[in-house]
Amino acid sequence: MAAAITIQCPNLTCRAVLQVPEKVRGKKIRCGKCDLCFMVPAPRTAKAPPQPAAAAEKK
Ligand SMILES: [Zn+2]
Repeated sequence: MAAAITIQCPNLTCRAVLQVPEKVRGKKIRCGKCDLCFMVPAPRTAKAPPQPAAAAEKK
């Protein structure tokens, strides 16, 4: 299954929302609208587990 991530073009005059394969994280892609090449950042918050509040209550 190919997971896709949604990122926004860093070009302030473009700001297109792009959907790219998850495997391009940390690589360069090209915006299809403005042709800008930019690095895809690894989304740390996307897969981060929620805060273990439930575990903290178990006392
Ligand atoms: Zn763009």
